[in-house]
Amino acid sequence: MTAQPALDRASDSPRDARSVLSSVFGLSGFRGSQEKIVRHVTNGGNCLVLMPTGGGKSLCYQLPSLLRDGCGIVVSPLIALMRDQVAGLTEAGVNAAVLNSTLSYQEASEVERRLLAGDLDLLYVAPERLLTPRCLNLLGQAQIALFAIDEAHCVSQWGHDFRPEYIGLSALAERFPKVPRIALTATADALTRKEIAERLQLADAPEFVASFDRPNIRYEIVDKQNATTQLKNFIRERHAGDAGVVYCLSRAKVEDVAASLSEAGIPALPYHAGLDASVRARHQDRFLNEDGLVIVATVAFGMGIDKPDVRFVAHLDLPKSIEAYYQETGRAGRDGKPSAAWMAYGLSDIVQQRRMIDESTGSDAFKRVSVGKLDALVALAETVHCRRQRLLGYFGETRSDESCGNCDNCLTPPRVRDGKVLAQKLLSCVYRTGQRFGAMHLIDVLVGRLTERVKQFNHDQLSVFGIGRELNEKQWRAVLRQLVAMGHLRADSDAFGALKLTDSARGVLKGDTAVMLREQPEGARNRAIRGKSRRGDLAAAADSPGGAANPTLHAALRAWRSEVARQRGVPAYVVLHDSTIDGIAAMRPDTLDELRNIAGIGDKKLEHYGAELIRIVKANDG
Ligand code: ADP
Ligand code: ZN
Repeated sequence: MTAQPALDRASDSPRDARSVLSSVFGLSGFRGSQEKIVRHVTNGGNCLVLMPTGGGKSLCYQLPSLLRDGCGIVVSPLIALMRDQVAGLTEAGVNAAVLNSTLSYQEASEVERRLLAGDLDLLYVAPERLLTPRCLNLLGQAQIALFAIDEAHCVSQWGHDFRPEYIGLSALAERFPKVPRIALTATADALTRKEIAERLQLADAPEFVASFDRPNIRYEIVDKQNATTQLKNFIRERHAGDAGVVYCLSRAKVEDVAASLSEAGIPALPYHAGLDASVRARHQDRFLNEDGLVIVATVAFGMGIDKPDVRFVAHLDLPKSIEAYYQETGRAGRDGKPSAAWMAYGLSDIVQQRRMIDESTGSDAFKRVSVGKLDALVALAETVHCRRQRLLGYFGETRSDESCGNCDNCLTPPRVRDGKVLAQKLLSCVYRTGQRFGAMHLIDVLVGRLTERVKQFNHDQLSVFGIGRELNEKQWRAVLRQLVAMGHLRADSDAFGALKLTDSARGVLKGDTAVMLREQPEGARNRAIRGKSRRGDLAAAADSPGGAANPTLHAALRAWRSEVARQRGVPAYVVLHDSTIDGIAAMRPDTLDELRNIAGIGDKKLEHYGAELIRIVKANDG
């Protein structure tokens, strides 16, 4: 097959892109570069698509699969995602199926039969399954519309989510040279992008890069004091009753935090690789299907979770990199409504991550890259400027406005002061005590506390003893952390986190290097952000119009949706998205024609649910 007939078919066919967009997906127009991508792939072109979570990647391969002859093969690493996508497509009347390890032999044979009979528009396959000789043979006999490689960053060894089985996907180009390949990811640093293009043989293919901004997500990074208490306050004050994800580094901490939230009356479930597979699956399903549940998880959770109404993502430990932070926080607010990315971080996080890198078995090159990535994230956590700018800047995107108005630093700009003298005091203290001690002891010496340890080492005899009484312990911790973040101090993982001077510390001690420190009265900041998040323009504008205007109708629609979802055994958003429910509540359609105009109502949904939805609208007028 050459590109030419595909082009003819695309333009001549009555099933052109826009009419399928409307009839199948119930959408009235494309977003951003979707249309260009759809046209390119439908015409047989390869490409790489970089779009943030919630940007609308799925359409970029689903539509061309419907427009081209044959079946679109979607490679996806996560079973939950495949299942939900297939459920959603089936709801919309598309012939979609999945081929993975959860199927019985008979079920798999039936899917294979449908593929060969030309009965499928879309087939989701796990990569390890796809690369088996049996599956490759099967595909060789079928007519294939395209290959979509979702979560394509999994092919990158430098990336945060490397999956060895993805490497084998380079075989697709050789084996099926005429079938277009579209690789998609929401991770887009330059290195990863280059690696995807190389490994999937897309070097000559165009890249479609969307803005990575998620304007509805509010970024906030706070000083870690007692993280669990801070988290509870954050949820109680700002996200009571909301669905959210809390990330922790270790399994033990996941269990602790989940228990602690539950005790405090916040419904929470743990999720980590140490739990029984059936428990894990149950917790994930409950999180997807129930309203207002918090899941406390290691990073094992989340990839491929399509839940659109996650209102907050909280980090109690520092992720490994900005890519990981962006990806994890990006699971909030896929539906475009106001959401929060909140992180508590402290010095111990930096020390811990550094230790994990140092002790890993990776090559020196790998460790160097990892340290660089960690440093970039720490710099984001310490910046006094707009966090969104910093985040987008990391992905190579520049913005003209200086302040986004929707991150903690923009909402309550931190004070910056000359910290040269404080830095000198601290660095001298590190030097005088022999570069053998951790944060706690150093601070004891600075504030002049006569602890057993201080006495044991005669540190009360040093000139630096008690020279830092102008700050309290918490303030010194913040100074210390910032000096580590600036690279003047380094936590030595061989010596139990002892802090050592780096080469650049000399410049500070000599007074040649300027040191600016941020300071922040935490209480005032919290009040300001909380206040603004209640009244904020963005929050008000994006709040569901239906929910506000017609609460009774809104509630009735949601109750109906829950019931349908329960009966059909699918997540509620597979039946109708929140935004569609909002649209119906706001527009109060009287007729099927009016209903058809609401985003998310395609032909099939109209046929299945139209009459019932109109009845609910009529029954709740007022
Ligand atoms: P991604 O895979 O990039 O995270 P999805 O493909 O799941 O994003 O799309 C996110 C949401 O945006 C979905 O609810 C989808 O229905 C909606 N969406 C996608 N394209 C459009 C469009 N052109 N118009 C309106 N909504 C869209
Ligand atoms: Zn900002």
